[in-house]
Amino acid sequence: RTVYVNGDYLPETEAKVSIFDRGFLMADGVYEVTSVLDGKLIDFDGHAVRLQRSLEALEMRNPISKDDLLEVHRELVRANEITEGLIYLQITRGSDGDRDFAYPAPETEPTIVLFTQNKPGLADNPVAKKGIKIISIEDIRWGRRDIKTVQLLYPSMGKMMAKKAGCDDAWMVEEGFVTEGTSNNAYIVKDNKIITRALSNDILHGITRAAVLRFANEAQMVVEERNFTIDEAQQADEAFTTSASAFVMPVVEIDGVALGDGTPGRVAPRLREIYLDEMRKAAV
Ligand code: PMP
Repeated sequence: RTVYVNGDYLPETEAKVSIFDRGFLMADGVYEVTSVLDGKLIDFDGHAVRLQRSLEALEMRNPISKDDLLEVHRELVRANEITEGLIYLQITRGSDGDRDFAYPAPETEPTIVLFTQNKPGLADNPVAKKGIKIISIEDIRWGRRDIKTVQLLYPSMGKMMAKKAGCDDAWMVEEGFVTEGTSNNAYIVKDNKIITRALSNDILHGITRAAVLRFANEAQMVVEERNFTIDEAQQADEAFTTSASAFVMPVVEIDGVALGDGTPGRVAPRLREIYLDEMRKAAV
């Protein structure tokens, strides 16, 4: 693969980052994952805007303009011949060659890295036709989940707990209410109403969430942004998750309880179809 590091396009084996980089030592960095369909970027703008927000929340300098960032994404798609896949982008605070809790001087160059992941069949995923099974786990993450930082150890642990339980993913629960999935936003559907937690510092402001709720409104579906419990989710007709890498993914079982008739239902597959159709049209 050709990857991008601090202004250079290099073979992945030649790309280097300092061992003192604060991304490596302190998870002091932010990231974005943008999907590629038909060789084009899905919702690049949404990701660029959220990246800027994450950087500002951490008082981190943005080392690249939005136009240049788009060009780097496109060049990597071209160089690696990606038709369907993902582009990972990470910006960390860099390093001044030592380890210290205090941030290095503001003129320290941030580290920017991008690489592609080839994923043929990303859109036409058979898993989406069957739906996924999830478990619930306690949400023990920090209080600024709206910042898309690279601190992903607990979400990784959550995915492993799900795997050990024979399931696909986990939803996290705080004070009795579902916050979000380990790498996605969480929704339930009851009597055709779509219910999802409102935006706050407690969850990531999903780029896919924003688009899906817009399409749901345009299709005259009722959306309620409020808290819900695992108990309510188990009584729901349907459930689903959204993320830039899995789009709209139906959930058919929660903590061993099948939802409705145990199939993806009607609302989630319809939203998935609308999302993919509309976003392909708007891809850049
Ligand atoms: N919540 C969390 C915790 C996530 O990691 C992600 C995906 N990165 C999402 C929600 C979904 O966000 P998006 O739709 O922007 O991919």
